[in-house]
Amino acid sequence: MFCVDVAINLPVKNIFKVYTYDVPAEFDYLDAGWRVVVPFARQTVEGFVVRRSALPQDLSIREKLKNVEAVIGDRPWFDAEMLATAQWLSAYYMCSLAEAMRLFVPGKCSIKRQAIRDDKGKLIRYDYEERLKEKTILAYSISEKGREFVREGFPHMRGFKQKNALKILYEFGDYLASTDLIAQGYDYAVMRALLDKGLVVSASKRILRNSYDRFVAPDKSVSLTDEQASAVEKINAAISCDKQETFLLQGITGSGKTEIYLRATAKALEEGKQVLMLVPEIALTAQLVNRFQGWFGKLVAVAHSKLSQNERGDVWYKMRTGNARILIGVRSAVFAPFENLGLIIIDEEHEGSYKQEERPNYHARTVAETRAKSVHCPLILGSATPDITTYYQALKGEYTHLRLTKRPIGNKLPNVEIVDMREELKAKNFSVLSRTLQSKLVQTVAKGEQGIILLNRRGYSTFVMCRDCGESITCEHCAVALVYHSYGEDMRCHYCGNTHPIPKICPKCGSQRIKFFGTGTQKAEAELQALPDVRVLRMDQDSTSTKFAHEEILDEFKSGKYNTLIGTQMVAKGHDIPNVTLVGVLAADSVLNLPDYRASERAFSLLTQAAGRAGRGLKAGEVVLQTYDADNEIIKLAAKQDYDTFAKTEIYNRKTFYYPPFTHMLKLTTLDKKQENAQALAQRVVLYLQNLILEHKLEPMVIAGPFPALVSKVRDLYRYNVLIKATDMEKVKASLMASEFRSQPNLYFDVDPASVI
Ligand code: ADP
Ligand code: ZN
Ligand code: ZN
Repeated sequence: MFCVDVAINLPVKNIFKVYTYDVPAEFDYLDAGWRVVVPFARQTVEGFVVRRSALPQDLSIREKLKNVEAVIGDRPWFDAEMLATAQWLSAYYMCSLAEAMRLFVPGKCSIKRQAIRDDKGKLIRYDYEERLKEKTILAYSISEKGREFVREGFPHMRGFKQKNALKILYEFGDYLASTDLIAQGYDYAVMRALLDKGLVVSASKRILRNSYDRFVAPDKSVSLTDEQASAVEKINAAISCDKQETFLLQGITGSGKTEIYLRATAKALEEGKQVLMLVPEIALTAQLVNRFQGWFGKLVAVAHSKLSQNERGDVWYKMRTGNARILIGVRSAVFAPFENLGLIIIDEEHEGSYKQEERPNYHARTVAETRAKSVHCPLILGSATPDITTYYQALKGEYTHLRLTKRPIGNKLPNVEIVDMREELKAKNFSVLSRTLQSKLVQTVAKGEQGIILLNRRGYSTFVMCRDCGESITCEHCAVALVYHSYGEDMRCHYCGNTHPIPKICPKCGSQRIKFFGTGTQKAEAELQALPDVRVLRMDQDSTSTKFAHEEILDEFKSGKYNTLIGTQMVAKGHDIPNVTLVGVLAADSVLNLPDYRASERAFSLLTQAAGRAGRGLKAGEVVLQTYDADNEIIKLAAKQDYDTFAKTEIYNRKTFYYPPFTHMLKLTTLDKKQENAQALAQRVVLYLQNLILEHKLEPMVIAGPFPALVSKVRDLYRYNVLIKATDMEKVKASLMASEFRSQPNLYFDVDPASVI
């Protein structure tokens, strides 16, 4: 017989050990990759078998070993590739193996214990059931009242979504799985509203496969442009010979990247393979999901953050068994199990949402690359404004560079005008809207077309400050300025959510001259509203967290009830609304001024994306970029959509200042209720690292800090950062992981940090 080493599935940061358990004869098939139930610290918990090991020679040690209590599932959850990826992940991202393996299973704790008793009520044993193997799923059907309501033409119903969901159920005429409804954009909130009105009924149903899809008819007849055809040819060649090759598909917005994804996917299916497609956020990619479903129907499974644990388990099960062939999902879908993975696509690969900002701080692109290497499949990275590091790999020839430089359907890139807001002030225009933007918007809506206005801040006025002493009103738990929201007349902290009434007098000097600075979406909305015939809809975190979801707002906007959409970053992304011919960016420089080495990259990408929203249809588009810094090179390049020139300058800067891709970075953060402690711990790590440089001659290596984080206190915890730049980062990581710092509860490692502040 043998025993097994088990990683414990508990949400604890610092269990780095694996534990050894004895294996009863009935489980003699156990091996690496199985999920098991084991006793651990007077609890019964789930564990992952990491390896078989020989029974200890010493009988007294052997007798102390506890037994594996039960086995979950009828096959190992982890195959060799997933195990290897988990091992790599724990070493690369400096977390425990258990933390890495947890990422691969749906849900946090996935076992349910059920006591089995005999007829006298005596406990015989426990039975363990996988929660994810639940047999039924929540489903909805239209009620009699609902049918009548549809026939009467939805009297007094305002919600666009509710109407559509009802229409779907009316036409379908049977119970429809909640997953299918969610995949179409109708989430629990929509369905609950309909339930409350008695228009639908719900029940638990046994449904595994998609029972309904509202397909967009595929247009497979479009003939590809030369650029598209050549890209498809190269990708398909890699797919058919199982070659690991990474492609950077760089194409301006609307250049037909999705057409290429579709064809590469078709090729992979033809070869009997499965496809993983990662997207930044499902809510903003409904159009893309629809196109994939149009082509591939029920072979497509969708995994997004709104799925429940069971639904996610169901999706994972479909991929693992090969019932579904294409998985479209957000960041975490990179950990899905596959029967036969043959292609990975990452759309908008530069997007920040691919990086997890909590432990383990993985980047989905890096994980995808590792998986692609171990299963020998191609990886496509698609973007109009690639991550500088990705672009640099392509320049070096590490990645195959595919480019789409034109839009296939005749429409040209929009015409961009930069407006200098200093000139507006000189001309006594104190509005947040320049005269150019005002007149263009008025003309646009007069023609029956639509405009999108992007403002990178939310709230009515950004912050509140005393005119006499300059004190700004900050959150008492976090070291950031509170933001004023006009409705409710309170100030809110964007880090901890606490609200605070606006003081009548300055808390520092007692002056009554309290002033509001900056401009938020609500204030801009009010000014827009005052223009002739402008009907404004607002989309920011304040509006999306409460009443509508993103998609609902977009649907309302598309329906034409409103002709102007104003909002923060999210209005810049993804969607394709043909009637939008004007885009205005109110504070084009605001993203640029963050003290972060990637600020330019983010600003360029945001401005380009925003500009790309205009003129997606057959009508030409116009863009107005308002700035106080009209000479800024990045704004000028974004206006020309000249990514390559921008990237060249940026790469030069990165090289000069020794930033990625010319170095690897590691950010260490210490957290403590006491400022001295946070600082002292950070200082100790710095000393340790300085010794490391001396001992191992690890140069070039730079240690910066400790310095207080940009937001130096969050929820009453002080934060200090240390930033390490090194060419041989693997040595630095390995050394830290072998030191006392590995299990320091107040110390956090962020490998390849998305920002340094
Ligand atoms: P991207 O993903 O790069 O933003 P899409 O693939 O969505 O671009 O293409 C933009 C639009 O152009 C879509 O409506 C698409 O159907 C259309 N399109 C793409 N390729 C072609 C082509 N070769 N001929 C005609 N229309 C095309
Ligand atoms: Zn004051
Ligand atoms: Zn706060």
